[in-house]
Amino acid sequence: MGRLVQAAFFILFPTAARARLIASDFHFQIRNKTELTFEEYREQEGWKLARLDYCPLHPEGGCGISRHGTYMRKFPEPSLIARYYCSVACVSISLLPDFFASRLPGTLDEVEEAVNVAEDSSSLEEAAEVVRPDILYPYNLRWLLRRIRYVREALVIIAGLFPDLVYPDLKSFRQWLGCEKVLCALREKAAAYLHSIPMIVGLIPP
Ligand SMILES: [Zn+2]
Repeated sequence: MGRLVQAAFFILFPTAARARLIASDFHFQIRNKTELTFEEYREQEGWKLARLDYCPLHPEGGCGISRHGTYMRKFPEPSLIARYYCSVACVSISLLPDFFASRLPGTLDEVEEAVNVAEDSSSLEEAAEVVRPDILYPYNLRWLLRRIRYVREALVIIAGLFPDLVYPDLKSFRQWLGCEKVLCALREKAAAYLHSIPMIVGLIPP
């Protein structure tokens, strides 16, 4: 019975979506591998350079994947993300540049910097005042705690993928990777696992 329902879903859903009977907003992200900084990406309009050579769902071809415009990310400054559309699977695929956090406004560096401040502060309340003086307590603390949790969840999973890592914190990762900006570097280091890693390093899976 379960298989019948599943089969019906896969047959009927794309047909209905193509006929616009139901809204189709299936969406996943793939990596836009780039060494551009956010500022360079914006200056050079990096979304125009982003290319998808084949559909990740149909690498054998034949699905007629095509460019599907862009969408805007507002923070830290407005910029655009390139998007493609697979008309067989009825999904849009966005090409997220390495410096952007997934499913959270802003860049990975901004999040990492906030967590660094938290680690160097005598209290989380004090850190929250430093990183978000524009937001009142306790909302600034909640803002910071969310980011600490996102980083922690991603690092725990990634540490499990690499047995030579000892402890899932930014300091250990910095030593292991030999660089200062850990989260952005993990897009490259853990490239094969990005759809299995939690936000904000991991990407929305198909
Ligand atoms: Zn496709």
